[in-house]
Amino acid sequence: MLHHERLRPPTNDFPPDGWRLIEKRFHPEFIAQTEAVLALGNGYFGMRGNPEEGGPSVQNGTFVNGFYESWPIVYAEEGYGFARTGQTILNVTDSKIIKLFVDDEPFSLADANIRQYERQLNMESGTLDREILWQTRSGMQVRIKSRRLISFRQRHAAAILYEVTLLNGAAPVVISSEMYSRQPGDQERADDPRKAKIFSGRVLHHRAHLARDRRIVLVHGTEQTRMVLACGIDHDIKSERPHHYTAEHTEDSGQVAFTIDAQSGSTIRLTKYITYHTAKTDSPGEVGRRAERTLNRITAQGFSELLAEQEQYLHDFWRKSDVRVSNIRIERARLSTIEIQQAIRVNLFHILQASARAEDNGVAAKGLTGQAYEGHYFWDTEIYLLPFLIYTSPQIARNLLRFRYGMLDKARRRARELSQQGALFPWRTISGEEASAYYEAGTAQYHINADIMYALRKYVNATGDEEFLFDCGAEMLVETARLWRDLGFFSPRKGGKFCINGVTGPDEYKTVVNNNTYTNLMSRENLRYAVETVEALQLKKPEALEALMQKTGLKLSEVEEWKRAADNMYIPFDAETGIYPQDDSFLDREPWDFKNTPEEKYPLLLFYHPLNIYRHQVIKQADVILAMFLLGHEFSLEAKKRNFEFYDPLTTGDSSLSSCIEAIVALEIGEFDKAVQYARAALLMDLADVGGNVKDGCHIASMGGTWMVFAYGFGGLRDYDGTLSFRPQRPPEAEASLRFPLTYRGRLLEVEISRESTTYSLLEGAGLVIRHEDETISLDRANPTAVRPTLQPLKLAG
Ligand code: BGC
Repeated sequence: MLHHERLRPPTNDFPPDGWRLIEKRFHPEFIAQTEAVLALGNGYFGMRGNPEEGGPSVQNGTFVNGFYESWPIVYAEEGYGFARTGQTILNVTDSKIIKLFVDDEPFSLADANIRQYERQLNMESGTLDREILWQTRSGMQVRIKSRRLISFRQRHAAAILYEVTLLNGAAPVVISSEMYSRQPGDQERADDPRKAKIFSGRVLHHRAHLARDRRIVLVHGTEQTRMVLACGIDHDIKSERPHHYTAEHTEDSGQVAFTIDAQSGSTIRLTKYITYHTAKTDSPGEVGRRAERTLNRITAQGFSELLAEQEQYLHDFWRKSDVRVSNIRIERARLSTIEIQQAIRVNLFHILQASARAEDNGVAAKGLTGQAYEGHYFWDTEIYLLPFLIYTSPQIARNLLRFRYGMLDKARRRARELSQQGALFPWRTISGEEASAYYEAGTAQYHINADIMYALRKYVNATGDEEFLFDCGAEMLVETARLWRDLGFFSPRKGGKFCINGVTGPDEYKTVVNNNTYTNLMSRENLRYAVETVEALQLKKPEALEALMQKTGLKLSEVEEWKRAADNMYIPFDAETGIYPQDDSFLDREPWDFKNTPEEKYPLLLFYHPLNIYRHQVIKQADVILAMFLLGHEFSLEAKKRNFEFYDPLTTGDSSLSSCIEAIVALEIGEFDKAVQYARAALLMDLADVGGNVKDGCHIASMGGTWMVFAYGFGGLRDYDGTLSFRPQRPPEAEASLRFPLTYRGRLLEVEISRESTTYSLLEGAGLVIRHEDETISLDRANPTAVRPTLQPLKLAG
């Protein structure tokens, strides 16, 4: 069955609400999904949406970005150059547990008599809020309110405000605030290759601890990576009645329990302050002291100040990032305006939670919402996330690119190991070293080099940050260009064209192929950008070029070679059909029997041997079609249409990275029905659990792709030559209007597209030239707004 046919209209069970995801009752059957979707994070650390009581849960998860343990990869059959060291993000000390006992009866979500329940992820305040009315076995009515936040402003801080009110009587109340260092049983289970490894022994080893008054700090370390993690909790309690507390800890756990003889109607307010600090080289004592200092600061600030900061942060974020829709009446979407709005914001909010304070780390495929894909960084960041970040939070984008720059030495060593010049970035990694044990769908994805350089170009174009380009980008460009020049060769059998053999493209259902079209196109772009950058340095900063040549041993003759390779790049093309084959042999493969592949056999990777998949024309995710979007200026509309028609029926969408791209290209070529279906799938990938695996973590790349569907798809944004151009696309009957801001070279532009007109408003900054359709528009202080008619959907001949 075709990918778009299998896309049952996904449903989202959260009631429509523009700013919140509200759970109206406790759904034990959806625990695993809500743990991921209602997770909180700030890019540095994250907590799954587990209840305060610690359970019930499928995975009680807390993750610190880049905090991992390594392990030797054991191959049944060894091979030279195989990745040696696995890397797995750890489920670290759980600090969010607060247990409640009323009249010594424990409150347990699973079997309590719950009279009212509401939990919500609030995207304006950045909090996970819960309100419960619990009736104890003795008939006591207890209101329990909690508010959890992980601070965006303060990278190492989180807090929980926990309030208990007895409504109809007096009773002793115990609130026990706890922390546990998680051990192997709490790490992921590996019954699916996409999930993380299971450790057999202990992974977090006690290194130090500190307990004073109502504060406990536990410091743990890993054996192999020798990383150190300090987790600290501290408390403040307010109640009309006196309280007393006991504090206890072991090497792996801590507990501060408050006891109050509570009166009817008066509220007990416990604030739990939480901090995480990690380090690669510092001593446990030092990391513990950092935790203490953060606790000192945030306890002095108090919850309300942390909350006010959080709201302000999010206010600024949404002002620069929110995509607003109104008046959507697209029958086929089967979603109301408010549901679409809600889903858009959930996607954007999770991207922020995955990336905001990553700073010296990357963004894992699942962000900090789950352990699947082992917390690894992939091309997902550069191709799927960075466009949104570049145009809304360029500082975060810069940090992520800088993080790649920090890996360059390891990438150089990896290239050497593979007998290649230049640098080869790892397909998947935390440490900068290749961690993919399956080289066919891992290391062979050389396109990662070009993907990073593609994002670099987009970043530099959108920000004008030449300093970053010249200081860090240029060196990455030199080394990646060298890799390409060395990897490929001028093949006499292809008329002397530059061919790149033995690589895997984005579609992991075809591995180690010759001349993957995507790779060749993207590497050509990489080579060209390297040439342009060296030329720009020559012109603008000869001394910086001199330094670069010194550092990298670059010779200008190499640049000539890059040019020659780019100019002669072989791009597979079948003149008879007008198809750009995905690789040299793609068209020779036998078609996959889609008709007789039952729905339950998707994703194919879980039901068919790779060899079976590889020898057929069947695609995991957009490949040529992705190139047609990323490098759309290299293809005619006609070619896009023809190739979409060819590849769409072969694309399973077994990767969540597909729907968003298919939606964008479908919009461009006027395939509105499919576009709406794909857009809907991308939008609801996590909320409606389209892939059935959101329990393992949110699909952060698809979330970034969702933004692209609106900005590049419906908005028709294109930025190939560094200038912003727009060609809004919409289904013919659509009434909808769409509005989104873009940060571009220090200006803030707002684009509003309605049925009749498209309005461009310069909200901040001055002097911006953009294109609408084929017209150039100058926006400046005197003339900050331009209104142009929105064209009718285009009709393609044939
Ligand atoms: C996709 C890759 C992606 C990875 C992590 C895989 O299923 O095929 O393209 O990078 O997931 O999201």
